[in-house]
Amino acid sequence: MEMTKFNVYSTEGHLLVLVLLSEIFTLVLGSTGDRTQFFRNCRENCEHTNCSLDGQDIQEQAVKFYKQSIFDLITQWTCADECQYACMWRTVFAFFERGWPIPQFYGKWPFFRLMGMQEPASVFFSLLNFLMHLRMLRKFRSVVRADSPCYILSHIFGLTSLNGWIWSAIFHTRDNPLTELLDYACGYAIVLSSLYCMIMRMLHRYSLFLRGVITLAFVSYYINYFAYLSLSKFNYSFNMKVNVCTGLLSAVGWFIWCHQVRKSRPYFRRILHFYVLFALAMSLELFDFPPIFWILDAHALWHLATIPLVSIYYNFMIDDCCTLRKEKALKGDYTLAYIYNKNI
Ligand SMILES: [Zn+2]
Repeated sequence: MEMTKFNVYSTEGHLLVLVLLSEIFTLVLGSTGDRTQFFRNCRENCEHTNCSLDGQDIQEQAVKFYKQSIFDLITQWTCADECQYACMWRTVFAFFERGWPIPQFYGKWPFFRLMGMQEPASVFFSLLNFLMHLRMLRKFRSVVRADSPCYILSHIFGLTSLNGWIWSAIFHTRDNPLTELLDYACGYAIVLSSLYCMIMRMLHRYSLFLRGVITLAFVSYYINYFAYLSLSKFNYSFNMKVNVCTGLLSAVGWFIWCHQVRKSRPYFRRILHFYVLFALAMSLELFDFPPIFWILDAHALWHLATIPLVSIYYNFMIDDCCTLRKEKALKGDYTLAYIYNKNI
């Protein structure tokens, strides 16, 4: 049987050898498409031919070819970025043509760019989350009276969430070390604020001093964590573990509360539903597949899944604040309410 002669000097031969080499590197360094020589050569040639020395400006002869839109200019796509984007698709196409699995680049799947946005679906869903928080915070303010117990807690959670989703939209629009830091730090602020609100809700009858001390502890812990994120080398798995542990603490706190008040506060089901559905939505983060239509990946679906959960959380806070207010008006004194009803 005659073996098919393989010409390493042909384009295909080059690519296969380079891919095999890159696969070996993959095993060692966990790398993807950006580490193939094919991609590196393409990028180098592109920058050399089309870009200014600092990689910022597109040279005159290439301006027509790249045709940057106003959105690309606003989102600051440099010439080097354009080369990276074009070479990413050239590499994806080369892999696709040969039936090889779609590679990742710099830890991300290849996404279709839309109006300057790197991950348009995640941007869109982040903005929908923002709008949902805005809508539900407004509903909360129109239904719940300002003198209700725990009124301020919903605002702390709401404002932290609004800020977090804005940074999420910015990060998914343009990924750089600063937007990444702010997305992760402000995302963690949402998780931490929900733990803070749970603890403050449980202790709302306790002294202002105790609640003040706990608030200070939370603020100093967050400042410390923010400093850790910004000053040290970013550790994704550690950050994920911190987020999961903080979220789990809130969930456990609420589950204990649900068990204790299951007879006196039927609206406990809302917060129970929220955490069960939230855990299901979070499981989407475990999946990792190339984006559907080069737009919709598991992370975007996770951002989509959290949108309907926002209203469950706020509706719970509305029910809880209104109930606490009625109890306050009826009993007049929290201490009495606590002694006689054992209501938390
Ligand atoms: Zn995200």
